[in-house]
Amino acid sequence: MALIVQKFGGSSVADRDRLFNVARIVADTHNAGNDVIVVVSAQGDTTDDLLAKAGEITCDASGREMDMLLAAGEQISCSLLCMALSELGCRAISLLGWQAGFITDRNHQRARIRKVDTERLECEIGKNQVVVVAGFQGINRADDLTTLGRGGSDTSAVAIAAAMKADLCQIYTDVEGVYTADPRVVGKAKKLAEISFDEMLELATLGAQVLNNRSVELAKKYAVRLEVLSSLNPVPGTIVKEVAAMEGMMIKGVAKDENVSAISVLSVHDVPGIAFKVFSLLAQRKINVDLILQSVGRDGTKDLSFTVPSTDRKAAVELLTEQLSRFGGTGVQYDDGVAKVSVVGAGMQSHSNVASTMFEALYENNINIRMISTSEIKISVLIDAKDANKAVNAIHEAFVG
Ligand code: ASP
Ligand code: MG
Repeated sequence: MALIVQKFGGSSVADRDRLFNVARIVADTHNAGNDVIVVVSAQGDTTDDLLAKAGEITCDASGREMDMLLAAGEQISCSLLCMALSELGCRAISLLGWQAGFITDRNHQRARIRKVDTERLECEIGKNQVVVVAGFQGINRADDLTTLGRGGSDTSAVAIAAAMKADLCQIYTDVEGVYTADPRVVGKAKKLAEISFDEMLELATLGAQVLNNRSVELAKKYAVRLEVLSSLNPVPGTIVKEVAAMEGMMIKGVAKDENVSAISVLSVHDVPGIAFKVFSLLAQRKINVDLILQSVGRDGTKDLSFTVPSTDRKAAVELLTEQLSRFGGTGVQYDDGVAKVSVVGAGMQSHSNVASTMFEALYENNINIRMISTSEIKISVLIDAKDANKAVNAIHEAFVG
């Protein structure tokens, strides 16, 4: 007998039929002799709808009230799923985040889990019933509801699996697993049987939308065995674990992120400390900088270019323009029409041809590279957004075929 955590995303519980479909998966797992803790997201677009409702009232709601509102979505789906389970003759009890022991920090709308107090979970699971937990939510030290940030139910599921030392954490979604590229963009994308935590973390961070990156981080930290699979099609999914088996294919995926903007600070002084000043200013505002390019100095000046998430572009440009005289710069430029495309695969540092293969694929499609960055397990390029899908296809063809 194993303890299995099963998480179902919003599309998997979207309506009555989907709820019963999920209830059957859960009941089958329980009837096979396993202990089952289920974590659910809000149904379908519920969270977006709740955000829109708040927007009808104000664009300036407090984090506390937003969390009070958004936590309602998961309250609905966990109770409905318990009702469906009991219709199937499977005993189940629903628990909200705070009842399931989710203690978080105070940061509303992007709370971090401090710990999961497992006492209640252990007690309820000991009664030979399924426990259904509302994902995405917790409670802070002031006894106020908090939420974990968009897509946070994955993190809830992994946190429970870690705290309860579950044998397996299954993330059920509407795709069959982790693919070598987004199947909607690349027709020939292949499903991976296995992927390592590090590779998955890169893919999740670089824009593959199948798992929330915080959940992967947590799974890696606590060595939680993860499986991504479809709630609609009962075929084996993708296993995410410490070291994925040798598969011949070194490249695990090609990812695209269109939510980036490029910023250039022009003609700053070519003296020590300028990069420090620019980037510490952005860090103080919690703006994450990704690809960075510095031009060769000429006549005592140089240009600094880098990318930020599009949502932070406005704040970054305002801040840098305001402080421009501190760097001796002559202006700040930005471009929102860019995309970052990356290849990910452990072991690429020992293969010298990965970069050249990628650049050749871009060259053959007449796609210009604006910036490049590399790490042990990924190479990212910044290109024009209009070329992004073409680039993903060309790079995928070159590596995966
Ligand atoms: N319902 C929340 C959201 O859509 C959490 C989740 O689905 O994981 O962001
Ligand atoms: Mg959702």
